[in-house]
Amino acid sequence: MRFAALIAVVVFSSCTAMQRRQTEQVVASTLITDSQETELGFQVHEELKKENTKFLENPDVGFYVGGLVNKLKPFADQDRPGVNWQYFVIDDPKTVNAFATPGGRIYVYTGLLLEAENEAEIVGVLGHELGHVVARHSARQLVAAKGLETVGAMALGKDPADVAILAAGLIGKGSIMAYGRDMELESDHYGAKYANAAGYAPQGLASFFEKLKAKGELPGFMTFLSTHPANTERIEKINAQIASEGLQSKELGVASLKAIQAKIPR
Ligand code: ZN
Repeated sequence: MRFAALIAVVVFSSCTAMQRRQTEQVVASTLITDSQETELGFQVHEELKKENTKFLENPDVGFYVGGLVNKLKPFADQDRPGVNWQYFVIDDPKTVNAFATPGGRIYVYTGLLLEAENEAEIVGVLGHELGHVVARHSARQLVAAKGLETVGAMALGKDPADVAILAAGLIGKGSIMAYGRDMELESDHYGAKYANAAGYAPQGLASFFEKLKAKGELPGFMTFLSTHPANTERIEKINAQIASEGLQSKELGVASLKAIQAKIPR
């Protein structure tokens, strides 16, 4: 009955984008609990280890990325309290990418750290990834992809192995689940908002997309572009948000990033 009621909510709720998002979030958080998200994130991490993902051991770089995540955390916590944020740096200078998994694990490739012009760009991308977690996009995506019935059965614990199967499906052959356009735009909004709140120029995320767009095809098989099309729409939307919300933070962080880039293996 619980799921029948939820389906009714989904189908019959009124249709402004905001209300639909809120409904999706309620459904996602009802079907997949915080602890199940944490378990899903753990499973994905185990898969990454099995695939011999090379994590960077350099403490300076780790401390640096952790510091950036910590600057964003307080603002993400306001939107979704109780997330146990963790971060990992993947040693792969050829891959320009970052992703987040359910439960709050943030992964960033050294290729992205090397590609960025300044810290504001990295903070924008990290804020975007925090946004995916804040808005429960993975849970919402699971509901969309697998259907309410399947996810509902998993949520009720009928088959705990489903969590592992879903986790494997999430990362497939090393590629993390791609979100749809609406979720990407929603995360962009969080990215600019959190970067600005942390004192960084909110234009960073847009300028990073602009640069990737100008470069077109990048080396590396899994780039941020493949799951984050750097189209004009998202760049315009970020700029419109900056104007309409009067976001004015200015910090770029050029020198501090250069110092860290020098320590990243290429
Ligand atoms: Zn994204």
